[in-house]
Amino acid sequence: MARYKDPVCKLCRREGMKLFLKGERCLSAKCAMERRAYPPGPHGRGGQFRRQESDYGQQLREKQRLRRIYGVLERQFRRYFEDALRIRGQTGANLLSILERRFDNVIYRLGFADSRAQARQLVAHGHFELNGHIHNIPSALVNVGDVIRVREASRRNAYFRGIAEILEHRSVPEWLRLNAEDLSAVVVSIPTREQIDVPINEQLVVEYYSR
Ligand code: SF4
Repeated sequence: MARYKDPVCKLCRREGMKLFLKGERCLSAKCAMERRAYPPGPHGRGGQFRRQESDYGQQLREKQRLRRIYGVLERQFRRYFEDALRIRGQTGANLLSILERRFDNVIYRLGFADSRAQARQLVAHGHFELNGHIHNIPSALVNVGDVIRVREASRRNAYFRGIAEILEHRSVPEWLRLNAEDLSAVVVSIPTREQIDVPINEQLVVEYYSR
């Protein structure tokens, strides 16, 4: 399972926005964007003197932001884009919908994890069932009617014993229905653009790949 292994706060600094890759820390004063909100590297601080970004530069940045928010590597991300092209409707919205349906993202959206990276790890360690079977593939896409549950054996560990109370107060996207008491959830619909809370102009991503 290939993944990005370098410090993730650098990614936020590079993109010039909070990508919320580290859970609680992102909301604290320890967030690198609160302390050093300029790009990493020796020329980072001089960013304000840079030339205005070209159209291509803007498209590239937006694509990178979206890819990094969901923690997807380039090859996989391009595959998602090609899948989005084949679906009827707006390609940008289709792409977001595919990314949103990734199993690790669903676990994050349900509140079982603080960040997508943590969700990915919990999934890979086999803590969840999908439709009654242990499922440890973070990139798998969920479908309408799928039932997600914390695995019976995992419910006994301290992490999941403590999480039920937190989930009670958790608001989840409309396309998911959470049963906090049972540590389970159902996918009730395919997410639409309006239901996907990511501050990205997906049209720029489409333009990037359509060059
Ligand atoms: Fe980004 Fe979170 Fe690091 Fe802040 S703490 S720079 S939001 S990953």
